[in-house]
Amino acid sequence: MAAQTLQLRSLGNTGLKLSSVGFGASPLGKVFGDVSEQDAFDAVREAFRLGVNFFDTSPYYGGTLSEKVLGKALKALKVPRDQYIVSTKCGRYKEGFDFSAERVTKSIDESLERLQLDYVDMLQCHDIEFGSLDQIVNETLPALLKLKQAGKIRFIGITGLPLGIFTYVLDRVPPGTVDVILSYCHYSVNDSTLEDLLPYLKSKGVGVISASPLSMGLLTEAGGPEWHPASSELKAACRAAADHCKGKGKNISKLALQYSLANTDISSILVGMKSVKEVEENIAAALEVATTGMDEEALSEITDILKPVKNQTWPSGIQQS
Ligand code: NAD
Repeated sequence: MAAQTLQLRSLGNTGLKLSSVGFGASPLGKVFGDVSEQDAFDAVREAFRLGVNFFDTSPYYGGTLSEKVLGKALKALKVPRDQYIVSTKCGRYKEGFDFSAERVTKSIDESLERLQLDYVDMLQCHDIEFGSLDQIVNETLPALLKLKQAGKIRFIGITGLPLGIFTYVLDRVPPGTVDVILSYCHYSVNDSTLEDLLPYLKSKGVGVISASPLSMGLLTEAGGPEWHPASSELKAACRAAADHCKGKGKNISKLALQYSLANTDISSILVGMKSVKEVEENIAAALEVATTGMDEEALSEITDILKPVKNQTWPSGIQQS
């Protein structure tokens, strides 16, 4: 029998309890193909109804479209504000990167307006490896602390791909400055390198969110988007794993999400969703694994197929001086 409700997990020292599956709203910015506003609203509503309380967006997704659509969809829920947790980001825009204090301070006001909110639960510096990490430490995070004092944001986060960015920043700021990190594509069946960083993050009291359990679409039957930065070798291995599952009447996305959910030191697994169907499949997968456990046989088969590319990643960001 499947569990009845989605698990809630504590996020570091924040006191927030996030649903184990979080709603990644980048698809609402049409970054994975067209999505009608109605489908987006229905997906958000269904996710909330099924126990998802955490929604993540950014001004970068779809050049502000994701924030606007998510804001409307959350408003349409007509539930008290404290029943959902919203994370948005700053420093990365359609026009490029700008982590200056001036830009991020202006950015939160623009985001709040698009989201139709008075505050966000988390504001995260978006893909900091594309900026100067010393600027993040010395200028951006102090600006975010002021926004926290002003009540516009409750908690502060940093996001990006290379795992070294997190230790670089966390080793240089006073404890309690960064409440949360958001890592992506490092806790999925093909790449689980985030695992090694978890004890360090715990020792710092920093909450952990892991995004892209489907490796930004590679671990789906449809495959990843055109812009996916993985090597052709990694793409081909994921395609082979997906085909193998299909041939056995199994769904790679379900297995991949279940794998990522297994580590309870990660507070929420953010999966990008753009339809009621995806929401229902993903929540069902989470409820199922909570009671019946993993399909170990299928997991072992896809692990074997992915072995030659295990933990392979791609370059991201600028050379830090
Ligand atoms: P993902 O691995 O969650 O994959 C999303 C893709 O899988 C989309 O095309 C989606 O439509 C599809 N999908 C979802 N459920 C499916 C299902 N059951 N069956 C088939 N296909 C399914 O990648 P993502 O969307 O990039 O990551 C999740 C979220 O995490 C993002 O939306 C974003 O909010 C966040 N994120 C943040 C950063 C960052 O801050 N740097 C980076 C990546 C992701």
